Amino acid sequence: MPVVTHKFETEVSQLLQLIIHSLYSNKEIFIRELVSNSSDALDKLKYLTLTDESMKSLPFDPRVDIEFDEENYNTITIRDTGIGMNEEDLIANLGTIASSGTRNFIGNLTGDAKRDSNLIGQFGVGFYACFMVADRVQVISRKAGEDAAWRWESDGKGEFSVEPTVKDSHGTDVILHLNDEGKSFASRWRIEEVVKKYSNHIAFPIWLHYEKKEYDDKGAVTGSTPVSDQVNSASALWKRSKSEITDEEYKEFYKTISHGDEEPLFWLHTQAEGTLEYTTLFFVPKHAPMDMYYVDYRPGVKLYVKRVFITDDEKELMPAYLRFLRGVIDSEDLPLNVSREILQENRVLATIKSQSVKKVLAELERIANNDPDTYKAFIEQYNRPLKEGLYSDFANREQLLKLIRYKSSSVDGMTSLADYKSRMLEDQKAIYYITGDKEHNLRNSPLLEAYRRKNIEVLIMDDDLDEIVVPTLGEYDGVELKPVNRSDAGEDIKDEKDEQKEAELKPALERVKQALGDQVKDVRSSVRLADSPSCIVVDDSDPTMKMQQLLKAMGQQDAPEVVPILEVNPDHELVKRLINADDDALEDLSVILFGQAVLVEGGELKDPADFVKRMNRRLGS
Ligand code: ADP
Repeated sequence: MPVVTHKFETEVSQLLQLIIHSLYSNKEIFIRELVSNSSDALDKLKYLTLTDESMKSLPFDPRVDIEFDEENYNTITIRDTGIGMNEEDLIANLGTIASSGTRNFIGNLTGDAKRDSNLIGQFGVGFYACFMVADRVQVISRKAGEDAAWRWESDGKGEFSVEPTVKDSHGTDVILHLNDEGKSFASRWRIEEVVKKYSNHIAFPIWLHYEKKEYDDKGAVTGSTPVSDQVNSASALWKRSKSEITDEEYKEFYKTISHGDEEPLFWLHTQAEGTLEYTTLFFVPKHAPMDMYYVDYRPGVKLYVKRVFITDDEKELMPAYLRFLRGVIDSEDLPLNVSREILQENRVLATIKSQSVKKVLAELERIANNDPDTYKAFIEQYNRPLKEGLYSDFANREQLLKLIRYKSSSVDGMTSLADYKSRMLEDQKAIYYITGDKEHNLRNSPLLEAYRRKNIEVLIMDDDLDEIVVPTLGEYDGVELKPVNRSDAGEDIKDEKDEQKEAELKPALERVKQALGDQVKDVRSSVRLADSPSCIVVDDSDPTMKMQQLLKAMGQQDAPEVVPILEVNPDHELVKRLINADDDALEDLSVILFGQAVLVEGGELKDPADFVKRMNRRLGS
């Protein structure tokens, strides 16, 4: 029979050109595409041998074999024992574009090479990817259940030919005649690397055949033996039934995906069935990934579709605050040819994501309740990213509040808000917290003195994020969250005696206010101080000093300067002196009381020399 020459469908020619020109930096994916086609062909035949009477007797030894020409680096052959193609199939599958998804994809290309190459990079480009590395491709195929075999051949330049040939058994051989750029792939190490990277979890064995050379003392080749190695693990671990997987296997798997040899802190394996069928396997590393706080961190969750690797570079698969997770999402409901844009808008993925987040958070709660040591180790690494979730994931805020831990004035280590609540005094009105820079300064802040005296617990929040996020929470489980450095927090702990003292001090405080001028918004008698003479607080509606620093650091240079309120301790000697002080002494004492309070807060004095001069004068008097 004669060789019949066909023209590619116009769109195929277009796609071919695009692939060849856009993907040159990512050529290795041709192996992924061909192996994935082989795996599909094996899947299809497997199904038929199980379901089709006429196929049941067919010998079926599912495997993929890769051979290459080691002498001249001229060819790579990828062979499978799958369903194969007859003449019609070859023309239809390798000469036209059957999938409407592909058509749409081509329709959406902009002509902007950079943008399009990104698109293509995320897109299963299929069989045509092999023309990036080959200037001629032969496909020799025999369809399962048929005797005839066919050779398809093309240089990818607009035409292909199909002619009859012979082949012992069903399946497909794809023979790539490598171009200059493709020759580097004719290497055992290169092929192995790419197969491991993309196709390790293809469910069928992938064999690599090569010659193992023998050398003499001088390094000259004396002979060679043919060797075949299985280069993939041939099992998608996450697809196996959970009850059959040992802890050891989970740990080994984690090591392969994390490229390290540390064990994970814990893992969560979910096999969902029902409206959506998918599997997720997430690991939490013992130590936070190095790039966790970089803007361009590498996402740790890989997307597979039906066990075929799709991408490991998609940050949207899980929310950013869970970016420390490592693992796999494998969906049965997505098409393989799924572009990045499609991924981001995909409803299937959005559902998998929201269900996965809920599962992960529920698992964290379970561990917090049942395995305190593991949870402690978790919190040491990941408390902070969880706090980011408080403002980025509104829907799960309540759940996150159960998981986040804070330092406290009453207990060692970290505490949950629930535990704080259970320790609250009978008449305690709120959950109190102090925010600021350094834990030591916060613990020793004069603002806590009265709380300590009254045995009221205060949460110590020394993380920038707390300053931003906690004020927006309002309450936890029906109890108000109140910062102690807000003026109204004092009201809660005030009693009659305090009011009396306030009245006695009032005229002196008026004079202090005048002396300090526009440095203070008000001067008040404090109920929160026990040992210290003074402290500064901010008005209920003003940002705290720390917040102001953060706003500045975030570039809001012209954020209005917040003027603090000075509170003084009516029982302190220095403050009592105010009552009978002459004008000079009052001015000195005012500057000293204010200056001290600013320093204790971690703030800076506007005129340190003046402060020191006045202090020395009063010390000497
Ligand atoms: P996709 O795999 O995304 O459908 P491809 O361009 O890679 O697109 O392949 C087109 C079609 O060719 C496949 O859908 C399949 O029907 C057929 N095909 C490709 N490779 C093989 C193979 N090794 N065995 C059987 N059929 C194949």
